[in-house]
Amino acid sequence: MFSFIKQQFIKYCQSGIPEYADTEDRRRIMIINLFALVGSSLTLVMGLRAWSEDNFLLAIVLNIAAVVFLLAHLCIRFSSNYQLPARLVLYCLTMLMLYLVYSGGVDNTGLLWVYILPPVALFLGGLSTGLVNIILFSCLSSFLLYFHGGSLMAADYSDSYKLRFILSFFTVTFLSCCYEYSRKASYQHIQSLSDKFELMAKTDSLTGLANRREMMEQIQKEYARINRNNDTLSLLLIDVDRFKSINDGYGHDIGDIVLQHLAKILANNIRAHDLVARWGGEEFLVMLPETNLQQAVDVAEKLLNKVASHDFEVKHFRRQVTISIGVTELHNQQTITSAIARADKYLYQAKQSGRNKVCFEVIEPV
Ligand code: GH3
Ligand code: MG
Ligand code: MG
Repeated sequence: MFSFIKQQFIKYCQSGIPEYADTEDRRRIMIINLFALVGSSLTLVMGLRAWSEDNFLLAIVLNIAAVVFLLAHLCIRFSSNYQLPARLVLYCLTMLMLYLVYSGGVDNTGLLWVYILPPVALFLGGLSTGLVNIILFSCLSSFLLYFHGGSLMAADYSDSYKLRFILSFFTVTFLSCCYEYSRKASYQHIQSLSDKFELMAKTDSLTGLANRREMMEQIQKEYARINRNNDTLSLLLIDVDRFKSINDGYGHDIGDIVLQHLAKILANNIRAHDLVARWGGEEFLVMLPETNLQQAVDVAEKLLNKVASHDFEVKHFRRQVTISIGVTELHNQQTITSAIARADKYLYQAKQSGRNKVCFEVIEPV
């Protein structure tokens, strides 16, 4: 029973959260839903009590607030947009609090409710919007409390009560701002760490290119797209020729720098929506979306020539480097693994037939 209630409660708080909402938006939507539930229940009950005590004006104000809080929840549930409901809740709460300052509520206890405004305004509006809202509220309520000694007010507060109310309200506002500031700062810190880790998980640390896992993910995404659109994509598997001799002759560090230069040449000579990854040691894989075999062979020839004509100058290493490339086209009836295996087969052929070559074979779709 308890777990059922808990489940329904969580479901209610999460209602209206879009699938791809970020953590900050999720948090705001959940707070609005929660506030709508608590706020509308409280104002409804207190409004009914005010009716029974013949305090009609207070009853009407409270019941209107209950309806507005409920509307905010419905608005989120059916439009998934939290900006408007957040404003609705914030303005309605501010007006209600102003009315409580003015009227004193029941037995002059209305001011006690005003302390919920700073945390709610800062949660919903963020530091700047929330603070502007609180300052506006403070100016208006100070005006009401002190204009002509409070002659505009329906309630009657003593001078020391007003002063202590204002001082304690500022204290709560200050503490809420400190809390919101540190919460936001730690959220941003965690967000930037998480972005950094996400990037590290996708990137090859030596060359800065996508790594094998990221390339597989991107091929899978593109593969799903070509399956929907009956399109094609091509893959180039590239291997550096006689790379071992560079390592052996000039050292591993020079070999590393040569790989970095190669990565730049490859990345700078493909289109923005193509992707190049470091596939392994001195192997690279290029994905060319919306590209048929003939176009892919042209790209491969271009890359081959760019690399072959580049003068590598890394300390005492000054020579040309060549690459071999296996090209394959991926159709929707074939698997990704079989396409990569085919590219590997043509790469092997390129090596066998003398290196510094592009090899391919036209495969008819099954
Ligand atoms: P082939 O033309 O047949 O491809 O000859 P190769 O010498 O390039 O082929 P092989 O696979 O025998 O050698 C690849 C070398 O690449 C061996 C390995 O030490 C080196 N290697 C792999 N990863 C790295 C790396 O990150 N940095 C450096 N410097 N070398 C690497
Ligand atoms: Mg190799
Ligand atoms: Mg090699």
